[in-house]
Amino acid sequence: MKVLKFGGTSLGSEGSIRQVRKIVNSNGFPVTVVVSAIGDTTNELHKLALEAKEGSSHYLNTYESIRKRHEELSNNLCGKVIVELDEVFGKLLRILEGVYLLKELTSRSLDYILGVGELLSSLIIAAFFDSDNSRAKWFDSRSIIKTDASFGEANVLSDLTAKNIRAISKDFKAINVFPGFISGTIDNEFTTLGRGGSDYTASILASGLTADLLEIWTDVDGIMTADPRRVKRSRTLNTVSYEEALELSHFGAKVIYAQSIAPVFSADISVKVKNTFKPDEEGTLIASGNSNGGLIKGISSIDDISIISIRGNDSRDKRNFFPRLFKSLADNHIEIVFMTHSNAEYTVTMGFKSKDAEDALNSLKAEFSSSEDGTVIRPELLEKGYSLLALIGTQMKDQIGISGTMFNVLGKNGISIKAISQGSSERNISAIIPKDDLNKALNVLHESFFLSEMIRLNLFIIGTGNVGKAFLDQLKGQFKYLKEHHHLNVKIIGIANSRKMAFQKDGIPLSKWENHIAEGEMFSKEGFLEKMDNLNFRNAIFIDITASEDISNLYTDILRKSISVVTPNKIAATKSYDNYLELKEVSRKYRSKFLIETNVCAGLPVLSTLSDLIRSGDRVHKLEAVLSGTLNFLFNEYDGSVSFSNVIKKAKELGYTEPDPRLDISGEDVMRKLLILIRESTYKMEMDAIKINSFLPASCLTSSDLDDFYSKVEKEEAYFKSLYHASIKNKSRLKVVASYQDGVGKVALQEVDSSHPFYNLEGKDNVVLFYTDRYNDQPLVIKGAGAGAEVTASGIFADVLRIAQSDN
Ligand code: ADP
Ligand code: ASP
Ligand code: MG
Repeated sequence: MKVLKFGGTSLGSEGSIRQVRKIVNSNGFPVTVVVSAIGDTTNELHKLALEAKEGSSHYLNTYESIRKRHEELSNNLCGKVIVELDEVFGKLLRILEGVYLLKELTSRSLDYILGVGELLSSLIIAAFFDSDNSRAKWFDSRSIIKTDASFGEANVLSDLTAKNIRAISKDFKAINVFPGFISGTIDNEFTTLGRGGSDYTASILASGLTADLLEIWTDVDGIMTADPRRVKRSRTLNTVSYEEALELSHFGAKVIYAQSIAPVFSADISVKVKNTFKPDEEGTLIASGNSNGGLIKGISSIDDISIISIRGNDSRDKRNFFPRLFKSLADNHIEIVFMTHSNAEYTVTMGFKSKDAEDALNSLKAEFSSSEDGTVIRPELLEKGYSLLALIGTQMKDQIGISGTMFNVLGKNGISIKAISQGSSERNISAIIPKDDLNKALNVLHESFFLSEMIRLNLFIIGTGNVGKAFLDQLKGQFKYLKEHHHLNVKIIGIANSRKMAFQKDGIPLSKWENHIAEGEMFSKEGFLEKMDNLNFRNAIFIDITASEDISNLYTDILRKSISVVTPNKIAATKSYDNYLELKEVSRKYRSKFLIETNVCAGLPVLSTLSDLIRSGDRVHKLEAVLSGTLNFLFNEYDGSVSFSNVIKKAKELGYTEPDPRLDISGEDVMRKLLILIRESTYKMEMDAIKINSFLPASCLTSSDLDDFYSKVEKEEAYFKSLYHASIKNKSRLKVVASYQDGVGKVALQEVDSSHPFYNLEGKDNVVLFYTDRYNDQPLVIKGAGAGAEVTASGIFADVLRIAQSDN
């Protein structure tokens, strides 16, 4: 015979109860069926009890609505309101009146009230099943499953219960319906087996009846690698051992109640967890010997944990400390969910479900403050707002690196670990983390332990101008390739321009980002930051594709949240040296990356190469570079036939200049790039220490706007012509050269002759020469296109991939 248990989630409506009947009928008879309360009834009964206790007459409305729902259900399923309901509701109302009048809710009355849900559902379902060929029978679990009088979560009297089950099995019909969750004392008082306890009822019956199989029917496909409500990409486990199932549920996997494992385990009865709404899915088999070689099976969590730390400051009675601690908690029926202790400091940190924390604190205070033997406990500390998460597997201690990986991924995502412990069963490693970070932690751990083949990157982008558009286009073009070849699933979670911003948790479709922005909300940098912060995504990258100082001022805060920053915006890295060091320091401390490859020479791998040199111990002695694609383009293009000011306009149209070309032409942009090169070469330098010989005539150094600038340059055409002709005469070419040596950085227009490596530099190309310990006589040369939206976008892309592929 099989025992089938249907949870509240499978009994939420008339339609689902009809579906349950189909499942029951598809089995052989006789069959035992255990049912929970309908839908969310137990929670509503709890609310009802509290309303009555608080003296709120609203309890009568809640009562009526529960009554009405059950009567309607009975009517629809059985064609009438079955008579038994009247008696149950009548008694419930009398108890509630007592609670209301006395304003007192004992645990005894609460158990009575909560248990009504299962009583009602089982009576209706038994009558419904019976209306089909009179082959169903209802059994009162309260007179069969016997417990002590620990209301709230009673302890089962196993021998007596087993005897009762054997006795009633003689009266079985084809379908035998039992209310789950409820039980009774020897004196026939109403008790319950604890929240979620219907699974336990089913397991006790399966064991007592030596069933062939216990089936737990619920609303998910089985036991999954993580709670699917929190981790969307969790997947169903085909098999788990009893021990693993116990461990998963103990640490919060609600899909099966922890207590329910023991009875079936000792009777060696297998359990199947299946989805009522997808009965053809295989589900999960819990059975012995099902461990698959010590892999991690799943991740569980308990939402609301409070921590109590206590510290003894007199060690005279060390031996008695722990016995007293455990006894005081046990006497008050308080479970310690998590515990670590330090022998040296004599400190114990304990995690409790938050509902138990105040009681735990009080019982510890009572125990230790009345101490007469000299043991004194320093002021106890109760901290709220934590969650516990646990990695569950088998023989975890034999698997090197699990806790290392766990620390690493949590750290990388800015999640601080309050405490960590490895269970002596070697089946779990658990950690206490801030509650707000739980979803992020579960997802990031799930990704690294179960889906290591696919990593999700969550991008937040500000700036959709030329470069921004090119980047988004490249992303769209590469999306599939990244998935297939780099196992990266890149999502844009937030995107903004200077006017609007849009967010979507599951990712903004790459082909529709323009529509999303158009329909988005007003942009504000505070709003963007707040949204990004609240979403609290793992593997998050902030990409600033603006030239805005305001936005660059946000980086330190963003890096502090362990969100990496990628940007072609040079402002942040070229402010004061202290500011630059702070950015580096914050990114090191919070393990977020600050990648600015595109600050120098657009997409050319200049800074990454420099960083590799420095990390491997090389030292830069001298730098020489043409760092402005714009200026190189201007002087290459200019031959006096078209005026210099028109060549500037052309460069702007082609997207080779900064949004304001004066930044290029004044040399300021080159100075910034040189400054970054010097700083990244580990030398201290400030912007105003860089020497510049401007090639612009004095009249062009100030201008009210861009048009004013163009007309001033136009007026100086003769000067530009003379520069050009002088260089031709000297068989040279004009280059704006940036250099650094012996602590001096400078930028100047130079004539270079054909023997110079810069002579042949074409179009908008850039070149950097590094003279280092290793590249002494022959410099390391990096040369190529150094301006343009496409190449800059590809440099941003490369930084994003670098973050995805880094392991620290
Ligand atoms: P029932 O009413 O059937 O007893 P529960 O709500 O008690 O259902 O348990 C099912 C729920 O357990 C699922 O909806 C799911 O959100 C949650 N759950 C938590 N952890 C897991 C897990 N590892 N695998 C499957 N479900 C889980
Ligand atoms: N109905 C009870 C509860 O919600 C028992 C159960 O569903 O298992 O806790
Ligand atoms: Mg349940």
